[in-house]
Amino acid sequence: MKKYNFNAGPSILPREVIEQTAQACLDFNGSGLSLMEISHRAKDFQPVVDEAMALLKELLDVPEGYSVLFLGGGASLEFCMVPYNYLETKAAYLNTGTWASKALKEAQGFGEVVEVASSKDRNFTYIPRDYSIPADADYFHITTNNTIYGTELLADPDSPVQMIADMSSDFISRPVDVSKYACIYAGAQKNLAMAGVTVVIIKEDTLGKVSRHIPTMLDYRTHIKKGSMFNTPPVVPIYSALMNLRYVKAHGGIKAMEQLAIERSRIVYDEIDRNRLFVGTAEADSRSRMNITFVCKPEYADLQDEFLQFATSKGMVGIKGHRSVGGFRASCYNAQSIEGCKALVECMKEFEAAH
Ligand SMILES: *Cc1c(COP(=O)(O)O)cnc(C)c1O
Repeated sequence: MKKYNFNAGPSILPREVIEQTAQACLDFNGSGLSLMEISHRAKDFQPVVDEAMALLKELLDVPEGYSVLFLGGGASLEFCMVPYNYLETKAAYLNTGTWASKALKEAQGFGEVVEVASSKDRNFTYIPRDYSIPADADYFHITTNNTIYGTELLADPDSPVQMIADMSSDFISRPVDVSKYACIYAGAQKNLAMAGVTVVIIKEDTLGKVSRHIPTMLDYRTHIKKGSMFNTPPVVPIYSALMNLRYVKAHGGIKAMEQLAIERSRIVYDEIDRNRLFVGTAEADSRSRMNITFVCKPEYADLQDEFLQFATSKGMVGIKGHRSVGGFRASCYNAQSIEGCKALVECMKEFEAAH
């Protein structure tokens, strides 16, 4: 039976990206050696990093003056690297979910943190719209896609101060105006690559403005200066990122990815809205294209486990919702197929007909 991977992360990647990465692990560039056993400073590997950086800049239209970094530690390490490098006195955070809360909490150890708005009052089912950002904040931090709650900020907000964004789960799924951000970071394992690497896009002249001592490994300038080669970078994950960036380019770039995301999410949301048994958890104007969250309507709540079993028996993988939302979550990252979304819709229809 064909399996459709709706995992939230680590998550689906194009089959060819997995095959090319597997091949390089067996024999890298015809060298007879595995990608796992060569030096990151080998002359064959430097072009991998260079091309991945250049492709990211090209695909996301990154302006002059920005560096692209490939770091370890996950997006979670950025929760502390950001305030380490940027928070002198005060930072502003928009609290839209679990990851946003973690980022905010981490920053509190470095200075004053203003929560400009929070959607916690309604279990993070919406993106707050009305808030004011203190003009004397060192930066304004947002989480563009809330992986757990299924909400997404689809437009770059306006801010009187420089912005910093965790884009882990909608990175390269839509165009962004990079010039509005001092720093964008994304753990790779949602929409870019296998787990193990974090991409950081950083405006160079925004650094060096805090007075504290920054440990070498946590100072973004270290990694800019050394081209992400200060220490051993995660070579296999970076290679998989390069393969995926090539794939995205060959399939029409970021605009094409956005079109697909619109199409896929429409297919699934239309069925959620039509189907008698289900209801979406996120408010309509805040719905994520990447993580589609829904539950059984209260009067059908006892069917929840049964639908999960039914969908699983039909080949759907990873649609169980996160425990803080319950129900179901269909993650539809770049590599998710329209066919996969239609198969899920078919399941929902069949299940409705049987009840
Ligand atoms: C998964 C996720 C994280 C955490 O990523 P790690 O790489 O595991 O640290 C942070 N932010 C968002 C939005 C996520 O989806």
